[in-house]
Amino acid sequence: MVIKKICCIGAGYVGGPTCSVIALKCPDITVTVVDKSKERIAQWNSEKLPIYEPGLDEVVRQCRGINLFFSTNIATAIKEADLIFISVNTPTKTFGNGKGRAADLKYVESAARIIADVATGHKIVVEKSTVPVRAAESIMNVLRANQRSGVSYQILSNPEFLSEGTAIDNLLNADRVLIGGEDTNEGNAAVEELCWVYEHWIPRINIITTNTWSSELSKLAANAFLAQRISSINSLSAVCEATGANVSEVAMAVGRDSRIGPKFLQASVGFGGSCFQKDILNLVYICECLNLPEVAAYWQQVIDINEYQKSRFSAKIIESLFNTVTDKQIAILGFAFKKDTGDTRESPAIHVAKTLLDEGAKLHIYDPKVVIFNISCYYFNVENCQILEDLTHPYITDEPENVKDSITIHSNAYSATSGTHAIVVCTEWDEFTALDFQKIYKNMIKPAYVFDGRMILNHEELAKIGFVVHTIGKRMSR
Ligand code: NAD
Repeated sequence: MVIKKICCIGAGYVGGPTCSVIALKCPDITVTVVDKSKERIAQWNSEKLPIYEPGLDEVVRQCRGINLFFSTNIATAIKEADLIFISVNTPTKTFGNGKGRAADLKYVESAARIIADVATGHKIVVEKSTVPVRAAESIMNVLRANQRSGVSYQILSNPEFLSEGTAIDNLLNADRVLIGGEDTNEGNAAVEELCWVYEHWIPRINIITTNTWSSELSKLAANAFLAQRISSINSLSAVCEATGANVSEVAMAVGRDSRIGPKFLQASVGFGGSCFQKDILNLVYICECLNLPEVAAYWQQVIDINEYQKSRFSAKIIESLFNTVTDKQIAILGFAFKKDTGDTRESPAIHVAKTLLDEGAKLHIYDPKVVIFNISCYYFNVENCQILEDLTHPYITDEPENVKDSITIHSNAYSATSGTHAIVVCTEWDEFTALDFQKIYKNMIKPAYVFDGRMILNHEELAKIGFVVHTIGKRMSR
């Protein structure tokens, strides 16, 4: 079989960019991305895409309507496809009075059920979502239990390693593509088919094939290792602050060891994003189920240190401001979980903002790309609260009055910082390093504080201007 049509279930941060790049690089393949969300599909078909990702607009513009389509007609796209990616969200669910946390596979299961209901002929079904080890078995069980005559399936694991903010570059120049499939005596034809798709632009040497379970576990392991490096350097940042060592110098000295390397050694307020915490919790749960409590406890520490770092940073802000922020005006610069994305899922800014709100602060938030400030969803644990966007000035609606009064969303950093007691940098946006801090200082209440949770500003320059500066892993002399 030669793959002529691909369907991707899930038009999110992974499904959208991944399929756009496949369409760009495989003009001989028609790619249809489907989603149950009408709004999301309408946005993918509009001039304003639902996600911000550098380079994505151009790729979509080049392919949309030619060999790239976005649709809510899930059944038709599945029927017509030779290969189906399942790229739906796999959030974390809590159970046992909130104590247990594991991957919630309800969307993966529903995607498998839709495939089972409508598929015709032979289909290669590819797990693109990040899933627990042996999830492919559960998907196959759903497909086989509902199998009609004339329909057959092969299932593969093909986890995605893209990073938000650099997704297009990551997809075009992937370090590796991982494809997991069942070993058979005749070889695995489905693995070869999927290899053929990627070989349109990825050198064969960078396409790794493994068994299905290694592939599923490798995705969890890769995220656990990345998050572990951040928690390792963050744990040392506390030691630096207590001793006078400088965490940037320590990271540089440690990272020069070619066995360790310099990447992911940047101390910060903590990691965020929809994946690291979720995937480690997933790994911890698997270890617990496998009766491997020591291994579970080992990886749990990576999350615990991250929570500790966010709390430590938030507590430092309050302590430094005379131990009270009640009615103080505080600017939060950056709300996305990292630069070059508008995604706020698990952003450390949410933790910081919530802590400050709990203590009675008035927040002034600015982020260059975030349009959905979902702080109150977290604050009040309300799902799907309605948030509207005015083109230049996003604002929050349907908020309980006290929060509405406590948060102002600004359209630039100068207005956000004007009249405030303190600035808290939560995202490492490049534009924050180019701000005119002389001008900002003049418009702030004195003493004016800066808390740099990303270590991106020139702290010595800020101190010279007159700011009281606090950062991570470094003592500031006054
Ligand atoms: P997302 O929430 O942005 O998108 C998922 C989409 O799937 C949503 O639009 C939702 O409406 C749709 N969906 C859910 N169930 C559906 C169904 N039954 N039929 C049709 N549509 C359905 O999620 P995402 O960030 O794209 O992540 C998808 C998967 O990829 C997750 O497992 C995630 O862990 C993994 N992943 C994410 C990233 C990342 O950086 N976001 C990176 C690598 C892997």
